[in-house]
Amino acid sequence: MHPFEEFVGIVRADEPMAHRNWFRLGGPAAYFASPRNPDELIALLKRCRDQELPFRILGGGSNVLVRDEGVEGLVILLESPHFADVKVRGSIVEAGAAVPMTALISQSARAGLAGLEVLTGIPGTVGGALRGNAGGRQGAIGPIVRRATVLDPADQIQVREREVLSFADRESNLDEPVILSAEFELEPEDPESVVRRMRRIWIIKKENQPYAHQRSGCIFKNPSPDVSAGALIEQAGLKGTQVGGAEVSDRHANFIVAHPGARSADILQLIDRIRQRVWQQFGYELELQIQVW
Ligand SMILES: Cc1cc2nc3c(=O)[nH]c(=O)nc-3n(C[C@H](O)[C@H](O)[C@H](O)COP(=O)(O)OP(=O)(O)OC[C@H]3O[C@@H](n4cnc5c(N)ncnc54)[C@H](O)[C@@H]3O)c2cc1C
Repeated sequence: MHPFEEFVGIVRADEPMAHRNWFRLGGPAAYFASPRNPDELIALLKRCRDQELPFRILGGGSNVLVRDEGVEGLVILLESPHFADVKVRGSIVEAGAAVPMTALISQSARAGLAGLEVLTGIPGTVGGALRGNAGGRQGAIGPIVRRATVLDPADQIQVREREVLSFADRESNLDEPVILSAEFELEPEDPESVVRRMRRIWIIKKENQPYAHQRSGCIFKNPSPDVSAGALIEQAGLKGTQVGGAEVSDRHANFIVAHPGARSADILQLIDRIRQRVWQQFGYELELQIQVW
């Protein structure tokens, strides 16, 4: 029997996932849902627990590699307007987990609020950015978070204040099942100078990352604040290395690009090869930033 029988029109079986991630790869999700509101979301989570089915939350799919075999259990995409609201109150901006970071950054800049523009050029949603403390040389999302609203493992809505949040390199302690929204504390500034900064950061990003038309993913965490994974991979002579249709980007070695015909298995093999080489040559065990589903 279908474990989501009563969720007609909400849950689909065998849903293709390739068009929902930035590599455009991977097999289908056994079950897939895009809940319209928190009540539907909670009902889905409860059903997964009752049926002992795993579930995963999908944001923009820019930090996820889906295996060729597909994903077991339920993939929940947060995209409905209920999870995608932005409110500006003075210097505080509140955003739902499904808000695309690009929209949040430009809306804040237009409102004359600075802080989020350091994240210009990072794809994905507010939820994904909070989970992985998205950021780069210019700064990360963690320091500007005022509070986050989450669903805890008992399906209760909880507010986590800044004092209890901790953020490190590409990780946060926001490990509850679902991040619902967050508030950011920004600095009032002339909108034009914020937009100028956004443009500058955008230009640097474009120069240093794979071309926009390429299907790619950013693979490893940096081993430490002053040792970059990309530099190690480049020094190991791995730029341009290929396995099947997967290639280490020739623009930035911490990215893998998927060419036509690539499979997720190619990406995983290339990841293994990179890890082995960097370990042998430099003694660093590279840790994955990308989530393998
Ligand atoms: C071209 C390119 C450039 C990139 N550059 C950068 C960069 O400069 N800096 C950087 O940090 N990253 C970078 N990334 C990686 C990626 O963009 C970030 O990790 C981004 O924050 C992921 O957001 P997302 O919404 O796409 O998350 P997804 O890929 O959808 O999900 C990532 C993880 O977060 C979890 N998640 C998502 N939403 C929620 C939620 N609401 N509640 C609970 N869990 C959730 C998922 O379950 C998954 O484990 C880049 C990726 C690409 C493809």
